[in-house]
Amino acid sequence: MAIPSIKARCAKCGKVSEVQAPGSVNVGTNPEMKEDVCSGRIFVWNCPECGTANLARWPFLYHDPQQRLMLWLSDGNASTEARMVSAIAAQEGLEGYTMRIVDTPGDLIEKISIFDAGLDDIAVELSKFVTRQELGKDVALRFWRIEGADHEITLAYPENSQMQMVQIGFNVYEDSAAIVRRNPSLAEAAKGLVRIDRDWLERFIA
Ligand SMILES: [Zn+2]
Repeated sequence: MAIPSIKARCAKCGKVSEVQAPGSVNVGTNPEMKEDVCSGRIFVWNCPECGTANLARWPFLYHDPQQRLMLWLSDGNASTEARMVSAIAAQEGLEGYTMRIVDTPGDLIEKISIFDAGLDDIAVELSKFVTRQELGKDVALRFWRIEGADHEITLAYPENSQMQMVQIGFNVYEDSAAIVRRNPSLAEAAKGLVRIDRDWLERFIA
């Protein structure tokens, strides 16, 4: 089967090219594709005219059947998104699945890292909220990694066009996870194909 393609415009020279744009990847049946997604390589295309590496974005479904995880990268088109949400709601066999909408390849990669680490993304969003308060800065925090015997978590944020890192103890995450468990309305609101991000969380705690 031919891989679907989209027309994409080079950010530098403006030339329009046909770019391969697979609609979905199942890393259960095609585990070799996971690295293409996690490195972001699958979203990068090189302009044949000027050689510039461009980032493309199209509706894309990441499916990990072992983790019962579906992540859908939206292209920002509201009607495409509404169709996808109802298609997923009508689909059988998705009991126990975690399903999320994300808006950029970077958001997609972050979600994969969070779930690969065995963490809950709602608790991670709450940990970011707490960390923003601690920092006293309104910054866009991203989960970066968890490491070591103490499971120290590193969050990253852009500042002055550089990537800054902030380490938080695993207790910050554990406290957040406990708050999530004590508030079943959060898990209830996270059912179906939903966008779990800062705005979503702040609807509950602001
Ligand atoms: Zn170009």
